[in-house]
Amino acid sequence: MRVLVTGGAGFIGSHLTEALLRRGDAVTVLDDLSTGTLDNLRAVQAHPRLVIVHGSARDESLVERILENCDAVLHLAAAVGVRLIIERPVHTIETNVGATEVVLRAAARRKRRVLLASTSEVYGKSAKVPFLETDDLHLGPTSHARWAYACSKALDEWLALAYSREHGVPVIIARLFNTVGPRQTGRYGMVLPTLVRQAVCGEPLTVYGPGTQTRCFSHVADTVEALIRLLGSDAALGEVVNVGSQDEISIRALAERVVQLTRSTSPIVAIPYEQAYGPGFEDMSRRIPDVSKLARLTGFHCRRSLDAIILDMVGTQSVPRTAHVPVL
Ligand code: UDP
Repeated sequence: MRVLVTGGAGFIGSHLTEALLRRGDAVTVLDDLSTGTLDNLRAVQAHPRLVIVHGSARDESLVERILENCDAVLHLAAAVGVRLIIERPVHTIETNVGATEVVLRAAARRKRRVLLASTSEVYGKSAKVPFLETDDLHLGPTSHARWAYACSKALDEWLALAYSREHGVPVIIARLFNTVGPRQTGRYGMVLPTLVRQAVCGEPLTVYGPGTQTRCFSHVADTVEALIRLLGSDAALGEVVNVGSQDEISIRALAERVVQLTRSTSPIVAIPYEQAYGPGFEDMSRRIPDVSKLARLTGFHCRRSLDAIILDMVGTQSVPRTAHVPVL
């Protein structure tokens, strides 16, 4: 298969690119290198079946030209990370909606299969767990920038489903829950790479808010396998599918686990949300996916344990020379 991966130099995109190359696909990566980096593709950059294009997924003629020679597009290019979203809401909305419009229009003209990477953020602050794909979405007010991200991705989903119904574009929507693993950066706010780096460098681990809020973390290798299986599933066409683990943990317990596994001497400190993200920040207290649809469509379940994920991230963490290096 010949595949276009938008955002292929990002954290998930680069792992996906490697996996597609491993199974024999020809891959074109399109990335503007805003949050992604060529470093993420270092292991495969000279691969004969890989083409890397430095450009924007909002560039319609570029996307159109690439899609001419591809059978499918995995659309991952987006503005992500709570910190980035709060600091750059205009960029977030315009990138997420604009790029998806372009990709869907081009795919419609060429009748290409599209897998859209969406997010569990679209469930918002719904208190009904686990989240089922058909559940209502509970987004907060427009005055809070965080919800702009959820809303932009929900709009992407609506647009993809509309293209599917109105123009017969074969689309699959994957709602990704917290995906973590090697190469993920904490620069845009993600919790686990931040905690691992802090533990390894001997800095205090920052737990925002009460620390009782929970998430389910899946290893990027599991997420990527789920995405590839979904791409190949005809039964998934026109469907929205949760992708993630059901292994729930509080952020406080996560920080404690990171300290234990790295044998770090770092303290864990509580930081009020307001201090971390500014006034009026809203978080979700629990986030757990219902993954029965993913299992039904692909036979797949996330397999890697949280401990294995943390150790994998510690193993690939680049440690400054002055840092405290844990004994594993
Ligand atoms: N968080 C934290 N310390 C950090 C970064 C994040 O305690 O250094 C918290 C954050 O407030 C949230 C959870 O960890 O409750 C997950 O945050 P992340 O941004 O990784 O993902 P999301 O909120 O999108 O699930």
